[in-house]
Amino acid sequence: MAEQKFCYIKTFGCQMNEHDSEKMLEVLKSSDYYPTDNLLQADLILLNTCSIREKVEQKVYSTLGRLKGLKKKNPSLIIGVGGCMAQQEGEKLFQKVPFINIVFGTQSINKLSELVKTVEEKNNKVVDISFNGFHSLTLIPKLPQQVKAYVSIMQGCNNHCSYCVVPSVRGEERSRCKEEILQEITSLAERGVKEVTLLGQNVNSYGKDCNGRVDFPSLLSSINEIKGIERIRFITSHPKDLSPQLIYSFRELNKLCEHIHLPIQSGSSSVLKRMNRQYTREEYLDKIDKLREVSPEMSITSDIIVGFPGETEEEFLETLSVLEKVEFDDLFSFKYSDRPGVKATTLPDKVDERVKAERLWRLQNFQKKYTLMKNTKLEGKTVEILAEGLSEKDPQRLTGRTRNNKVVNFAGNIELRGCLVSVLIKRAFLHSLEGELISTLH
Ligand code: SF4
Repeated sequence: MAEQKFCYIKTFGCQMNEHDSEKMLEVLKSSDYYPTDNLLQADLILLNTCSIREKVEQKVYSTLGRLKGLKKKNPSLIIGVGGCMAQQEGEKLFQKVPFINIVFGTQSINKLSELVKTVEEKNNKVVDISFNGFHSLTLIPKLPQQVKAYVSIMQGCNNHCSYCVVPSVRGEERSRCKEEILQEITSLAERGVKEVTLLGQNVNSYGKDCNGRVDFPSLLSSINEIKGIERIRFITSHPKDLSPQLIYSFRELNKLCEHIHLPIQSGSSSVLKRMNRQYTREEYLDKIDKLREVSPEMSITSDIIVGFPGETEEEFLETLSVLEKVEFDDLFSFKYSDRPGVKATTLPDKVDERVKAERLWRLQNFQKKYTLMKNTKLEGKTVEILAEGLSEKDPQRLTGRTRNNKVVNFAGNIELRGCLVSVLIKRAFLHSLEGELISTLH
């Protein structure tokens, strides 16, 4: 029996990275590496990085800085950097951080065991940031006892928003074969998974590279037929690819949850043009109206970047007025930062950092009242929850989500994990709700 070795993975960034980390662990099982949450127990430490904003890159470098001491104490410790920052920097990372052994890209996850083996044998440095098609995309992690699971349906993006590194670090859009996705979800359902979240940088354009053989609404409709799956979610959507068929899916497919994350990025059409987002403020608002016609109770969340080059106070006020008009259920907001190799970096009239910080503060405070208002509307209502397990904040209580993707904590027996239950909402907070268990649905 081969000696057990331990791998510690720190994940930065989005759900795609979370899922990629699950895939890394799956690949490493074949070299007898097992997951650990204890940094000191690890024989292998991997950072799965993000490079969407400067701030997250700084976090990666400071985390690496803290690992230097561990490597000094244990020279046979293997340290690797993967994900979007690794894809972007490649072997330059060895100059910036000389004590790491492995740099591997977003499409080299399937090669991880080989790369680690080489370092184990030669204690050298290895790099692989090749774009090699589907291999990493089709990896399927087998996690124990899941209630919900991520499923990659595509990778890459062809949109080239002027501030975004994703097309250069994740490559062009590639859709997975539909049969393979349905097979994966069927086997997940057989293993007790009740909810799947379909992942892609722009899931709405799923199938566009398949010569019209398949598209996203038809994929959703096939998944809706899979026995055992109770809930379907997807992330992330680009507003320009939100088709009428996809909007109608929210009425026609009973398992498709009434929540969409639809990043607008700015409420000003002139800023959207400089961002190369390919829609206007009016076109976005029109899609929101159509979504609410089909599903009045659906929750809508979004992303906003403040301080994009050239953003005037008037343009920023247009963004605030969109918040007022749409009343998003929640918002993820960020300060613009230059990224290597993207067009926006060359744009004039960069906004002062203090102005960016002040606009971010104003935006987040402006949104708070809508987030709380939407949650408060649920007080006194009985809602369906998928019980996911113990609440991290309060292990005496269970936690789960509404179909609108709102977090609810409630008292109940852990045996309800994986069950759909009916809960009366007693109290609303900014980012969660308190409830009382009424009954078990199934
Ligand atoms: S659609 Fe999203 S992932 Fe694609 S380039 Fe634009 S911001 Fe980046």
